[in-house]
Amino acid sequence: MNEKLERTLLSKFPEIFNIKESDPDDYLWGIDCGDGWAPLIAAMCRQLQFRVDATARPQIVATEIKHKMGILRCTFSGADDYCNGVIDTAVAMSYVTCELCGNKGVMARGPKGWVRVLCDQCRLDNPG
Ligand SMILES: [Zn+2]
Repeated sequence: MNEKLERTLLSKFPEIFNIKESDPDDYLWGIDCGDGWAPLIAAMCRQLQFRVDATARPQIVATEIKHKMGILRCTFSGADDYCNGVIDTAVAMSYVTCELCGNKGVMARGPKGWVRVLCDQCRLDNPG
């Protein structure tokens, strides 16, 4: 994910990404997926933080957000059943959302064997 998008997510959801006052301004958490999934991640984090704020539960903290086997993979500490439902929904959306641009996409295997969810245009632009 490009730095600008990641910084936007970190600044919107500092509790979820466990950002500390002492972290340097150029700190990057390391969201390891394409830019097209940033809106999915933002929507997921918004609902997770709302759950924490509304229920006074312990803070939910992201431990890993990346692409794996073509789809979004997220792990969090402190997630309850409700939160797991929110996370599952974001993962389900990643099956049909182009990882590069966020348009509607489909999962397919490229010539080099990579499985990715891409729209038609991004697949043309990124052979392999
Ligand atoms: Zn695309």
